[in-house]
Amino acid sequence: MPRDYYEVLGIAKTATQDEIKKAYRSLAKKYHPDVSTEAKEVAEAKFKEISEAYEILSDEEKRKLYDQYGHDGVKNSFGQDGFSWDDFTRADDISDIFGDIFGGMFGGRGRGRSRSSAQQGDSLRYDLEISLEDVLNGKKVNLDIPHAILCDACKGTGGKDGKVTTCKTCGGQGQVQRVARSPFGNMVTVSECPDCRGRGKTSEEKCPNCRGSGRVTKEAKISLNIPKGIEDGMRLRVAGEGNAGYNGGPAGDLYVVIHVKDDKTFDRDGANLWTGITASYPKLVIGGEEKVKTLEGETVMLKIPAGTDVGTVLRIPGKGLPRMNSSSRGDLMVRVSVNVPKKVSAEVRELLMKLDETAGAKAKSKSKKSGIRKTIEDIKDNL
Ligand SMILES: [Zn+2]
Ligand SMILES: [Zn+2]
Repeated sequence: MPRDYYEVLGIAKTATQDEIKKAYRSLAKKYHPDVSTEAKEVAEAKFKEISEAYEILSDEEKRKLYDQYGHDGVKNSFGQDGFSWDDFTRADDISDIFGDIFGGMFGGRGRGRSRSSAQQGDSLRYDLEISLEDVLNGKKVNLDIPHAILCDACKGTGGKDGKVTTCKTCGGQGQVQRVARSPFGNMVTVSECPDCRGRGKTSEEKCPNCRGSGRVTKEAKISLNIPKGIEDGMRLRVAGEGNAGYNGGPAGDLYVVIHVKDDKTFDRDGANLWTGITASYPKLVIGGEEKVKTLEGETVMLKIPAGTDVGTVLRIPGKGLPRMNSSSRGDLMVRVSVNVPKKVSAEVRELLMKLDETAGAKAKSKSKKSGIRKTIEDIKDNL
């Protein structure tokens, strides 16, 4: 059976709320385990006892029940094993005495990451546009990328000449706890300390160079090799070139995201490139050669076999894009279409009419899917 709560706090049964609070504060100062001259176990037990008494007597409703029925009247205020720190709702009443030391009594529940401990800096993203030629040849780029670095003048502390003191509001923890009562029990919420913005340290005079933030923005000179064959959307990581870390933590990384510009002449399909040529109708029928420009700007002669359909895809091996981390290259795929003249001379017109008569007589009537309508996927399936 716990001791009488009035006796614990050393007050009369008629004490006002102010007197109760005053008594609790002075006892809390005496018995807080971090400041008490008593043995730690004794001090902890004492501190818990006065806190339990205060929890009940500082609440007028609970106090009434206690006055009427004694300990039995308020036993439902606590869990099965009696009063525990989870039941304590008055942390704010004494937090100004002890600051964050008191928060430690709650066993550190809900503690989030704080900037008062070493923490990696933020990573940065940079979007870089390159051409298809850059994918073919690879590229060395020099980038100027602004990132946050520690202020040299204050060594990142934010105080003038580097002078800082432990933040009084959070006791150097970088965060503050609040205990709030809810239908599900006491909720401990942890938030960044508003006075030191999570750093745990404050300064009387701010560093003029960084205006107290401890960081300045500087352009990083980054020299980066874009490898041959890189794909659209790939990210290149540059370690340590993101923003500076906190409290001695490492800097974040820089991610360069690659965007390959669309090309007027070539479409990309992995390591293969696609392009098109037009040939005359006679050349498709009897065969011949046609000039094709490659991505590197060479002109190659492509052989058109006799009887080539419109929409046929011919392949020039090794004239596509390099594969990453490999010496092999993809192919250049050339789709053939027919060149239909808009105007012809009378002579040509006569020849064409004759041709049409002969062709018409020989042609068998059969329905067939037009080659022109084939999609890239259809053609790929047939390769
Ligand atoms: Zn500074
Ligand atoms: Zn603080």
